[in-house]
Amino acid sequence: MLIRRLKLSGFKSFVEPSELRIEPGLTGVVGPNGCGKSNLLEAIRWVMGENSPKSMRSGGMDDVIFAGTASRPQRDFAEVVLTGQGDDGEELEVVRRIERGAGSAYRVNGRDVRAKDVALTFADAATGAHSPALVSQGKIAQVIAAKPAERRMMLEEAAGIAGLHVRRRDAESK
Ligand code: ATP
Ligand code: MG
Repeated sequence: MLIRRLKLSGFKSFVEPSELRIEPGLTGVVGPNGCGKSNLLEAIRWVMGENSPKSMRSGGMDDVIFAGTASRPQRDFAEVVLTGQGDDGEELEVVRRIERGAGSAYRVNGRDVRAKDVALTFADAATGAHSPALVSQGKIAQVIAAKPAERRMMLEEAAGIAGLHVRRRDAESK
């Protein structure tokens, strides 16, 4: 799957609605320290269902919502829209929205879905929130230092079979 477009509103430092088109090929994000480069990568992970405070550099879920500055009030919600293009050429629009104190809601192509459905969709397309397709700061050193079991998990994400473990655990618990 290719990520074609990203829309952010109220997400971390992206307070005003912002839209980015991502062309095929390698994309680099450059800018001074603190301008929001890592926040962009986190927005991609977040819309894919990521919740871990470590990956999101946050304490609580609501920390992804623009927290306000001396001159700007905080926002009540954050929304990220990712438009992807599947290997079959079909467009896929995934929306995650969080409201302060009220948690997250997800939509795929206009339909309300569960967080798990979104995570599985991306895991099957080998582009999930933990996929090696998204290389964040410090990740290369982590791959080198990883234990064999951790390295296997990375390979499984890359191969698009990570979702199988989730489905097996689900089936076994029924
Ligand atoms: P570096 O080059 O140092 O890696 P960067 O371009 O990756 O920098 P980010 O870490 O993406 O920068 O952005 C950090 C900025 O985002 C900080 O200024 C921080 O205050 C701001 N930020 C993070 N979360 C929020 C939030 N909830 N509300 C407002 N601003 C936020
Ligand atoms: Mg950074």
